[in-house]
Amino acid sequence: MTNAKILVAHISEGDADEAIRKVRKVNEKSGPFDLIVVFSKSCDETFEPNTDGLPQLLLISSDKDNNSKSKKINENVTLLHSLGIYKLANGITLSYLTYPSDALQEQKKNILDEFSKSDSQIDILVTKEWGLPISERCGRLSGSEIIDELAKKLQARYHFAFSDEKNFYELEPFKWESERLSRFLNIPKYGSGKKWAYAFNMSVGDKELKDEPEPPNVIANPYKNVITDSNKRPLETGTEALIDGDQRLPANRAKNENKKIRTILPSNCHFCFSNPNLEDHMIISIGKLVYLTTAKGPLSVPKGDMDISGHCLIIPIEHIPKLDSSKNAELAQSILAYESSLVKMNYVKFDMSTIVFEIQSERSIHFHKQVIPIPKYLVLKFCSALDRQVHFNNEKFTRNAKLGFQLYDSHSSKEYSDVINNQSNNYLQFTVYETSEANPKIYLATFNASETIDLQFGRRVLAFLLNLPRRVKWNSSTCLQTKQQETVEAEKFQKAYKAYDISLTEN
Ligand SMILES: [Zn+2]
Repeated sequence: MTNAKILVAHISEGDADEAIRKVRKVNEKSGPFDLIVVFSKSCDETFEPNTDGLPQLLLISSDKDNNSKSKKINENVTLLHSLGIYKLANGITLSYLTYPSDALQEQKKNILDEFSKSDSQIDILVTKEWGLPISERCGRLSGSEIIDELAKKLQARYHFAFSDEKNFYELEPFKWESERLSRFLNIPKYGSGKKWAYAFNMSVGDKELKDEPEPPNVIANPYKNVITDSNKRPLETGTEALIDGDQRLPANRAKNENKKIRTILPSNCHFCFSNPNLEDHMIISIGKLVYLTTAKGPLSVPKGDMDISGHCLIIPIEHIPKLDSSKNAELAQSILAYESSLVKMNYVKFDMSTIVFEIQSERSIHFHKQVIPIPKYLVLKFCSALDRQVHFNNEKFTRNAKLGFQLYDSHSSKEYSDVINNQSNNYLQFTVYETSEANPKIYLATFNASETIDLQFGRRVLAFLLNLPRRVKWNSSTCLQTKQQETVEAEKFQKAYKAYDISLTEN
């Protein structure tokens, strides 16, 4: 055989009968397949659905309590567990690793040993978890370095992950130095309402390289720290929102890796007006140098008199990664004026305090500040919320830059100006405005551009402070709004902000 037709599906034990019936239909309609790969968290050797007449089925289970690696459970079903490499009679080689992220870390050595033994060409890699760069690329918070190592070592032609049970995700194909093409997909669970089964054709054996014409949409290899401006983002939720301050700095995790400066051109930048896909229905106000937009997947929720989330972004119109306050004083002033006007609205109109979060880094894409209203009584708790996240960041997430925050009493203090006017400094900053009159408290932590930072750090601190743990991820189903909701939110925001809007008085 030189071509194999394969179906990959994700099901759970409760839906197994129903899902396998559907698989059978797909097999009749679009098959017959040569191989069916089913991932299931919960299925084990008691897997009972009727598989008569179906092609060979590999059931890959992440059920933790099982020690066996592979077991034939009936005529055409083989159960695969934990980790291993499985060679099929038709020449296809599949490797699998079903550990969840905590176990990956614990078993790191085992895992790498196991896979370093093999020198077979791997066609299909199945892992529960995602690798880091692809994860970061689509705004997810999880992802494992061990999966990265595996993906790089095996360079499988297809890599399937399953940890996101709700969303189908497909990355455009990318190439390794060997010219081998790889694809990455996440398959959600049956019942998610998304595409839970994926069919594809694969040439087998020597024909592999010769037979596969290069697809037109090949992107830069995501494991190589390069993001090119031609990368489209295939996130299912539509436009990929850097809108939530979610700029993904390429993590600098492997020193010997090819370190190119990535470029995101304004026409592709989610904050630039020259991008035709700019989410202009979310814009609240446009000034001379700066504009204001509501946040995609807002963190805060309406509270008290405030019928909007109030989470918004202050964005320079110019495409700059970092703000040079000493050279670009007018822009810095404009941003601060917007900031004050929002603080004032939150305090006077809604009786709320305000926290502003920003990342100043030469490796950012398009600088912006995030502004979030908080109930006044929470100001006192900010410091302990920050301490807690700093602790987690420094102790648990060892690949992150260690953070140490300094407190400054005002924007005009000399010590503060010295830090921000030194362009070699990269930093994270929270500005806490208890009222619209008093000087804010500024918490600032510097880091080296070469260090990896947690881009969600600000959101994490504020989600904890606001006791909204389920809203940490901007792109979770809890936070994302429909376009219509976003439009309504922006309109309400604009209405509330009107009396404070500085673009109306700017000249
Ligand atoms: Zn831009």
